[in-house]
Amino acid sequence: MPELPEVETIRRGLEKLILHKKIKNVVILCEKSFRGDPKWVVGQKMDRLDRRGKALLIQLSNKMWMMAHLRMTGQMIFEGGEKFAAGHPDGGFTEKMPGRHTRVYFDFEDGTHLYFNDQRKFGFIAVLDELGLAEDSFLKKLAPEPWDMKSEDFWGMLQRHKSAPIKAVILDQSNIAGVGNIYADEGCFYAGILPWRRCGDLEREESDLLLKGLCEVMQAAIDSGGSTMKDYVRADGTKGSYLEKFAQVFRRDGLECRRCGGMIEKTRVAGRGTHYCRGCQK
Ligand SMILES: [Zn+2]
Repeated sequence: MPELPEVETIRRGLEKLILHKKIKNVVILCEKSFRGDPKWVVGQKMDRLDRRGKALLIQLSNKMWMMAHLRMTGQMIFEGGEKFAAGHPDGGFTEKMPGRHTRVYFDFEDGTHLYFNDQRKFGFIAVLDELGLAEDSFLKKLAPEPWDMKSEDFWGMLQRHKSAPIKAVILDQSNIAGVGNIYADEGCFYAGILPWRRCGDLEREESDLLLKGLCEVMQAAIDSGGSTMKDYVRADGTKGSYLEKFAQVFRRDGLECRRCGGMIEKTRVAGRGTHYCRGCQK
């Protein structure tokens, strides 16, 4: 599932490619993947690219906003002089576009194209005006992102959920925005905290370390480019995961811990597969 670092990778990648391009035509191949009137976007330029949590926001020259949610399997693929593909890593990255899972695409006046692919159709693009954006139920309840949160605010938030497991609390976007399953596990490992411990049981120092860990692991993922086409196909042509580069625990169950040499284990916390090291986390 594309998480915040992947969406930020998309934002940065697309910013260089689609900014100020004029939309000539929009093709909607799946009704539920596009909410709004195509007339609101045709003839408009893409003026600005933003992101709130895992939502990608594109402002048009008529001041309307296109909000894209990638959810489980969304991808954005640009084809022009160069190709850029990011989001859920699957065959769509290398397929001819529009592909089997293309739901919506935009033709620009200069002959380039932007494709929204989404195998499982949980994602969508919604066109909203300023008021619609301000009133959007998802954006409204979104908490600040880790790097916008002060140590005391994070600590205060944990104190409001004393009896809940840490992982469940940091996965809730209304508590802290953008932390998905991968970064919750990696952040807990960084802080040396077992993910099922209760928030009320944490020391202040552990809370600070957890917030720092979430910032560090998410920033490292953004810097490495998240799951983009570039690192999805290895130099030898085989498919690889960007996770191989930096994951300490996520999907490493049964493997040796890189820090202590113990074995990474897997369990379920908050209904999600959860990876940890007994030797490094308490
Ligand atoms: Zn360890």
